[in-house]
Amino acid sequence: VKPRYQSVPGTRDLFPALAERYAATERIAREVFQSYGYGEIRTPIFEHRELFARSVGETTDIVHKEMYEFEDRAGASGAGARLVLRPESTASVVRALVQRGLQEVPLPIRLWYAGPHFRRERPQKGRYREFRQIGVELFAPPSPAADAEVLTMLHRFLTAVGVPEPVLKINSLGTPVWRKRLADALREQLLPRASDLGEDDRRRLDVNPLRLFDSKDAAAQRLVAAAKLPALDDAARQYHDELLGLLAAAGVPFVEEPRLVRGLDYYTMTVFEVTSERLGAQNAILGGGRYDELVADLGGPVLSGMGFAIGQDRLIDAATGDPREAKTVFWVVPMSPAEFEYGLKACSELRRQYPEAVVELDLSGRGFKKGVARAAQIADSPETYAFKVADVRVAFIGPDERASGSLKIRDVKTREERTAPLSELRAGGRVP
Ligand code: AMP
Repeated sequence: VKPRYQSVPGTRDLFPALAERYAATERIAREVFQSYGYGEIRTPIFEHRELFARSVGETTDIVHKEMYEFEDRAGASGAGARLVLRPESTASVVRALVQRGLQEVPLPIRLWYAGPHFRRERPQKGRYREFRQIGVELFAPPSPAADAEVLTMLHRFLTAVGVPEPVLKINSLGTPVWRKRLADALREQLLPRASDLGEDDRRRLDVNPLRLFDSKDAAAQRLVAAAKLPALDDAARQYHDELLGLLAAAGVPFVEEPRLVRGLDYYTMTVFEVTSERLGAQNAILGGGRYDELVADLGGPVLSGMGFAIGQDRLIDAATGDPREAKTVFWVVPMSPAEFEYGLKACSELRRQYPEAVVELDLSGRGFKKGVARAAQIADSPETYAFKVADVRVAFIGPDERASGSLKIRDVKTREERTAPLSELRAGGRVP
């Protein structure tokens, strides 16, 4: 029978084998990003609704219909605050910096984050209502070099996690002035065909034509694909070409995608995305871009930002390798409950001498057979285990071992066996 309490559609429980993979990608993120000078920032899970309306954009799908909103209880003023679960983090990071005060902070500012985000989308494989993102934000004067650094680091990270041959799709949205020209051109060309569009897309055409690039409707996609786009202005073109040159020099593979327009309003100039053929319909692993006006828009000084957000759930699905570190597993089997006290002591010694290993005490206390069977199962079917397995060793504890203060250890695969004094398990090299 179906259990009475079910998780909310679009949310997931991550059990150890999967949760450890999430932790492993976060560890790799920390290592790679730290080596470029990026420090971790943690911002609140909920924020004022207005923050995202102002930054991501009122007319985007995210703000228009996907946020989890609630009215906080009324305060002294009588009115409650309109709060939302964060749908993304760039706006939160910028808010946090502006709130702390950016006047005296030395540039560049390099930050990364990881955590859950929330959007009320239709759940399907690779699309959840609670999903996790790992992201990076760089605040520095705008330059192709700044963009190239972020994108090179991103490529390093994806490779380290085991995404096969990640290819960057890249485009330039130009300056805000050019973007307005693009919007006008789209409106002009598509208005005569507006009757082909659905209601949502007609609204987009009216208030924010660039959002038509996100439309999932076939008619809108056809019209947008056929539309003639104005050429980038010279300055933006030169900036973009310089960036592409730097990427080529750094060995970062990319393809130019002139119709890549990302679904958030704050992007200017460089935008990019990485997709994977290993994913289904929801094939975008990450997206990002430059935002030269967002900081000022949110009340800060004139300061440019550049960053990306990786869908951690999709990242893990797209990786071919297993990002977890392989562990030696000691399965410690006391023959009977009389051996438990010594068993606990033996486990402590193993953990002290093998700090990288996993040491598990078998708690059945009914002979060696079950313990050996479980150890063999971990070795043969490591997917049933929380950790990535390098090798499995069984430690036997009977009255003899207890009496002599020793441990008998067998390597499950090689069947090699050795007995050593508890205090010197590792002395003289390998045990067994
Ligand atoms: P965005 O913040 O919309 O630019 O999205 C960046 C990345 O986050 C996407 O490329 C996806 O990999 C991931 N992402 C966005 N929305 C979801 C979702 N509902 N479920 C899973 N991943 C998502």
